Amino acid sequence: MINRYPGDCGTCHQRVEAGAGQAVNTAGRWLVYHQDCIPVRTAPKPGTHPGWHDLPIVGFDIEGTSAQPMESRILTAALIPGEGPPMRWTINPGVPIPPDATERHGIDDDMVRREGEAPAVALAQIGTAIAKLIADSTPLVAFFASYDVTVLHNELARHGLPPIEWERAIVIDPHILHREVEPRWYGKRTLGDLCDYYQVRLAVAHESVSDARAAADLARGIAARHERIARMSPDALHQAQIGWHREQGLDLQGYFDRVGKQETVNLEWPLETAVRG
Ligand SMILES: [Zn+2]
Repeated sequence: MINRYPGDCGTCHQRVEAGAGQAVNTAGRWLVYHQDCIPVRTAPKPGTHPGWHDLPIVGFDIEGTSAQPMESRILTAALIPGEGPPMRWTINPGVPIPPDATERHGIDDDMVRREGEAPAVALAQIGTAIAKLIADSTPLVAFFASYDVTVLHNELARHGLPPIEWERAIVIDPHILHREVEPRWYGKRTLGDLCDYYQVRLAVAHESVSDARAAADLARGIAARHERIARMSPDALHQAQIGWHREQGLDLQGYFDRVGKQETVNLEWPLETAVRG
C-alpha cells in the first residue's frame, strides 16, 4: 500500500516522502520503498495438484482504438488455444486511430490500411470461433477480461452480427484471480508485473498474440500455485469471479472516493453495459 508516513527507503536508504512510495509488510515489519526500489518478488513454486489448468483453455486479447470498451473498434484480436496454431486478426476499422492508442500498442492507420480486413468479415470469424468455444465449454482467458468481452460485444452489434451468449461463457481473468490470491499485494498489477512475478514469458506487451498467450499462462500459473482455485469447476470459478470483481471494484471505489478522484468503477463482469467514467 502507499506509505502514509515518510521514511528511509529499504533499498537505497534515501528519504521517501509520505504518499510517494510503498509501505511493505515484510515478516511483520513495515518497510518503506520508492516505487522503483521495491525488491523483485517471485511467486512460490507450483504445486502438483490437479485442476482445470490441466485442461484446454484459450487465451484471448483485443487491441482497440479506445480504452472505453463501448466505443473501442477492434484493430487486432487473438485467440490462442493450448495446442494448435494461434488465430489472429487485423482489422481496418475505417475510422482514424487516436494517437494515444497508437502510442500504447503501436498499431497505426497505415498498418491497418495495408493489412487490415473489413470489420464485418473478421468480426464474423471471431464471433464464430468464440461461439464454438462456448459450445464446447472451453474457458476463455483474458487479462482485464471485461474490456475484451465488452469491446467484442459492441463491435458485433455495431456490424449487425449475431451476439455471443456471454451468459453461457466461462471466462477466466488472471487479474481478478491474482487479486483474490494475493490480497496484500503492493504496487502495480499490469500484465507485465504479473508475468514477472509468475515467471510467465511476455514476448511483446500490448501485442495481441503475446498478451493472449501470457493471459492463459498466467491463469495456469495461478491455478498451479493455489489449489483452492484449481479445484473449482470452471463454471463455479466464473461465478466466483463475478463476486470477487465486485468486491475488488468496491475497494477501488472506496480508494477513489477517499482521494477525491471523480471516477465510477464499473462493477459488472465480464460484460459491461454502462459507460465507464
Ligand atoms: Zn529507494
